[in-house]
Amino acid sequence: MRYTFEPDVEAFRSEVRDFIAAELPAAGGARGRGAVNFEGHGEEYSATMGFQKKLAQRDWLAMAWPKEYGGGGASHMRQLVYNEEMSYAGAPHYSMGIAWVGPSLMLYGTDEQKQRFIPRITGGDDWWCTLYSEPGAGSDLAALQSRAVKDGDDYIINGQKIWTSGGHLADWGWMAARTDPDAPKHKGITMFMLDMKTPGITVRPLINMANREGFNEIFFEDVRVPANQVVGEVNRGWYHMAVALDFERSGIQAFAGGRRTVEGLVALAKSKPELVERRPSIRMELADRAVEVNVGTFLAYRVATMQARGMVPNHEASASKLFGSEMGQRIASTAMHLLGTAGQLRDGSPHEITDQASSYLQAVSGTIAAGTSEIQRGIIATRGLGLPRG
Ligand SMILES: Cc1cc2nc3c(=O)[nH]c(=O)nc-3n(C[C@H](O)[C@H](O)[C@H](O)COP(=O)(O)OP(=O)(O)OC[C@H]3O[C@@H](n4cnc5c(N)ncnc54)[C@H](O)[C@@H]3O)c2cc1C
Repeated sequence: MRYTFEPDVEAFRSEVRDFIAAELPAAGGARGRGAVNFEGHGEEYSATMGFQKKLAQRDWLAMAWPKEYGGGGASHMRQLVYNEEMSYAGAPHYSMGIAWVGPSLMLYGTDEQKQRFIPRITGGDDWWCTLYSEPGAGSDLAALQSRAVKDGDDYIINGQKIWTSGGHLADWGWMAARTDPDAPKHKGITMFMLDMKTPGITVRPLINMANREGFNEIFFEDVRVPANQVVGEVNRGWYHMAVALDFERSGIQAFAGGRRTVEGLVALAKSKPELVERRPSIRMELADRAVEVNVGTFLAYRVATMQARGMVPNHEASASKLFGSEMGQRIASTAMHLLGTAGQLRDGSPHEITDQASSYLQAVSGTIAAGTSEIQRGIIATRGLGLPRG
């Protein structure tokens, strides 16, 4: 069976492909990292931002936003094929500013905040990081303890965040802090926008197991933030936090990126038959991975088609996230089996066949970021299967 979309959506797919063919090679270091490159400094970071500027010029950066806010007003199916093509190409097309800061401002921001921040987000001018997780608050995010205390026209923030992706590169931070420590934990949180250069903010990089600088721990010591950088109602931040308008949330990125990797491994095996000869198990593994990217793609299409019909996917999106992130680890593992000892070589080694060592190490975090596998299974068990909690 071949799954095709409406002709206008397929025509749009071709347009996206042509754009990628023309513009992504020019983005140099931004290529091939998938999603957004949080790791780069200098050249790679500039290439990422440069590519995002090109997307902004076509109104593609904020593809899902309403047109009145400078977005593309795209249907879910257009967003789906856009995400699929960009992810297949490893193009840096995602940003947290687009994903949730801007949408939250549209819903809860003041006119002054909208005018000040939204055009810089749609224009690809500012890079945002998300300051939610803390050492004692991850899956149980409402347990966060960073404090914001009102002082005249300002708030003074003290506390610590952790795992802040791109915090070392960000211009602005989107932060959840506790403004009422006596209220029940979901009811005392407020959202702030922070200039990351404000005195009192210390960004300490955390080098991940792939030896990359992706996330950070960030310390706040008497950080003074003007009250006009509070977004929405004070103490209602929990309810403002997870807003993303009507974004496509199929999880197609994992499957499109996975498909690209599996195709690359198969091509490699064909060009170097010694990698697969007399190794039936590796052929079986590759076959399994090829099946999985197809299965996963249909899980993702299902979520997107539900959204296109006005339904709100819930456990279906969790199933896609769960399967996609665990599949990513299996693909990385298969690559290591295929490559044998060469799989251990790091980027840039003269003997490297393909850069799989870092992918293998990077894949580990996929089942933790954006909701762990256990949390996803919990959602599927309770909301999908109707099993009791606990
Ligand atoms: C690559 C990466 C990027 C990230 N980027 C950001 C970012 O930009 N900003 C940000 O704020 N955060 C970010 N995070 C943090 C991420 O959101 C948290 O790591 C995640 O929510 C898990 O929280 P935790 O690490 O505190 O683990 P915990 O919540 O402490 O979980 C520890 C273990 O307990 C399990 N567990 C917890 N609760 C339950 C439960 N109810 N039922 C069953 N098992 C449970 C978990 O599954 C896990 O195995 C990032 C994380 C990663 C890995």
